Amino acid sequence: MSNKDAAPEQVMASLFVGLSRHEQMALLGRLENAGAGIYRALAAQEKNAKAREALLSAAGREEENGGLLRLMTTHKHGCEKCGKPLPNRPDARVCSFQCTFCAECAGAMDHVCPNCGGPLERAA
Ligand SMILES: [Zn+2]
Ligand SMILES: [Zn+2]
Repeated sequence: MSNKDAAPEQVMASLFVGLSRHEQMALLGRLENAGAGIYRALAAQEKNAKAREALLSAAGREEENGGLLRLMTTHKHGCEKCGKPLPNRPDARVCSFQCTFCAECAGAMDHVCPNCGGPLERAA
């Protein structure tokens, strides 16, 4: 079955097959941002002011979703507490939002992220 015959939902799902969780999040974020662009284009053609406003706020939500996924997939390369550089990923301790700390600072905080309260774990 070529992509032309598949339902759009199937085509989209097929993009995610075989990707790591990190890659899936990064891809979904890009698709959300692309979706926002489409909402904005639709809004530009919309004559009904209320409908235009609704489309623009939908675009904003897509951008928000894309931003969240970008945040959650962007690695930082230094400790947010002491500033120690962390060029080697396994040396970093991170939460799900990629708040990043060195092992010493994470240990001193009982491996709890001071920003979100989530566990700090060895970065993959
Ligand atoms: Zn530190
Ligand atoms: Zn956090």
